[in-house]
Amino acid sequence: MIKFFLGLGLILAAFPTTLLAAPLKVVTTVAPITDMVMQVSGGNVEVVGVIPQGRNSHTFEPSPSDAKILVAADLIIVNGLHLETPIINLAEKVKRKAVPIVKLGNATLRSSDWKYDFSFPKEKGNPNPHLWPNVSLAQRYVSVIEKALSKQRPDLASTFEKNANKYKKKLHKLDNLISKCMANIPPKNRKLITYHDSFAYFAPRYAMKVIGAVQPADFAEPSPKDVARMILQIRKEQVPAIFGSEVFPSTVLAQIAKETGTKYINKLRDDSFPGKPGEKEHSYIGMMYLNTETITEALGGDKKCMRKFNYD
Ligand SMILES: [Zn+2]
Repeated sequence: MIKFFLGLGLILAAFPTTLLAAPLKVVTTVAPITDMVMQVSGGNVEVVGVIPQGRNSHTFEPSPSDAKILVAADLIIVNGLHLETPIINLAEKVKRKAVPIVKLGNATLRSSDWKYDFSFPKEKGNPNPHLWPNVSLAQRYVSVIEKALSKQRPDLASTFEKNANKYKKKLHKLDNLISKCMANIPPKNRKLITYHDSFAYFAPRYAMKVIGAVQPADFAEPSPKDVARMILQIRKEQVPAIFGSEVFPSTVLAQIAKETGTKYINKLRDDSFPGKPGEKEHSYIGMMYLNTETITEALGGDKKCMRKFNYD
């Protein structure tokens, strides 16, 4: 009998601790963050994103079933910068005490670098939260995610580090190609007018300029005064295209395009992925790839610039 227990002890000691511990349960919010956590974890943790793709992440209210998911979480990773306030408030109430809430945006940028604008006015106190369309900031998100996962599962730290480095290398290539594509657009056209204001950190990274975003701070349709202002601006700047969002179809933007004779491209995305689950395009990288092709082509560049990108 003693021999048996001794034997069992040796077998258990020989087992990697990863096989003995229950997988870490990580709860995330928007799809780009969920994807980044999955890339770093490489299947070693359970990841649940609570904001469904195609929903307005800025006004998303969690349901009782989301509360259940948060109760069971071992780690909560959000964007922060006021993007998911109702989820964070609920998480603070229901999560276990020791469970950390990691805010990627807050961990990535100092408050002096936050951007405020028409859709995210300083008076309201909510900065523009869309850091991730800037791929260099997304790389920093990945580093924060790696650290957060490793803190919870030090036994897997080297795996997380390896996965994060591999993924960051891909993001580095993507970042370079986006720069090349934007440089391929005639200089006078390197201007963005968007409906949803999600390119505020993208534009300065890639030598583009956001000259307007139409969606007001309450996510309603813009007022007639705002529309008139936008029409004047488009005529003055002579932009060849204005961009709508997949998640926020806007009849107002279509009307503005008609009025000004500019093209209306209703295809930009900031937190919903193209393609279907399982396809390589259905990812943060796939989304940025498509956004880059869309912007480049609509503003008079050659979208073939992205073809050098290799997903593998
Ligand atoms: Zn958004």
